[in-house]
Amino acid sequence: MNNELTKKQTYNLNKLQKRLRRNVGNAIADFNMIEEGDKVMVCLSGGKDSYTLLDILLNLRINAPIHFDIVAVNLDQKQPGFPEHVLPAYLESIGVDYKIVQENTYGIVKEKIPEGKTTCSLCSRLRRGILYRTATELGATKIALGHHRDDMLETLFLNMFYGGKMKSMPPKLMSDDGKQIVIRPLAYCKEKDIIKYSEAKDFPIIPCNLCGSQPNLQRQVVKDMLQTWDRQYPGRIETMFSALQNVTPSHLCDPKLFDFKGIQHGTVFEGIEGDIAFDKEEIVTPKFDDEVEQYAEDGLIQFKAVE
Ligand code: SF4
Repeated sequence: MNNELTKKQTYNLNKLQKRLRRNVGNAIADFNMIEEGDKVMVCLSGGKDSYTLLDILLNLRINAPIHFDIVAVNLDQKQPGFPEHVLPAYLESIGVDYKIVQENTYGIVKEKIPEGKTTCSLCSRLRRGILYRTATELGATKIALGHHRDDMLETLFLNMFYGGKMKSMPPKLMSDDGKQIVIRPLAYCKEKDIIKYSEAKDFPIIPCNLCGSQPNLQRQVVKDMLQTWDRQYPGRIETMFSALQNVTPSHLCDPKLFDFKGIQHGTVFEGIEGDIAFDKEEIVTPKFDDEVEQYAEDGLIQFKAVE
């Protein structure tokens, strides 16, 4: 960590760390992500998200009411120029258990995918298989990934725009073979906070473009869109994330989620939001966090009824 922090920077860093800890703690509790006796395998890529995830989990564990173990795992995919010494040196400096898995997925991907085509889909499939196998070998009961709130929203829009599905990244999921539980403890954390935290902590970031793959243009388009909205309409991101946690299947259009055919005269459905067919929507108040509250106090947010 940078030793030259001023008093003000230290204060801000503590505040930021507290917020990230609170966000992670709430996500863990809301989705029962970590339980007594768990061994959590934290997947560390060398990017800001996974460093932050590991740091906050280690921090939370100090005062956690339950006991759980942490093991950090990095997959060295043998991309040319991968600085092999960086992660072991960092992990030893903080005294955490770790394993570096070496598999030449870079070579496989380069061999199988024609030049100029996107390599990410095969690469991630290979990576997933290796990480699941490693979790089994290490006896890990949970696999923690560093995806955050903004990744989840980007995925939602990507699926809507390009996939015709309303689907995001779940905070907790079971692998297809039913053997591994994957958790995303940063689900409530803002990318902006993670960027600031990672800079303040001076994590030894490993660049993510070593494989030479083309950037994912669709994701970048969605990311730019969300960032523009965030600048133009402060609070919109928070409101959209609240929407992800507040779904009303009876007011969407998927007969697999709600029995529209079963609606008959005299049927009363418990727990749905009722008949609003002739009404204007109520004003929706988003779940505030510190920053949005501040915007609201400053009068920068005006809530409008959804047309
Ligand atoms: S960017 Fe490179 S390392 Fe990352 S998933 Fe794509 S191909 Fe794999």
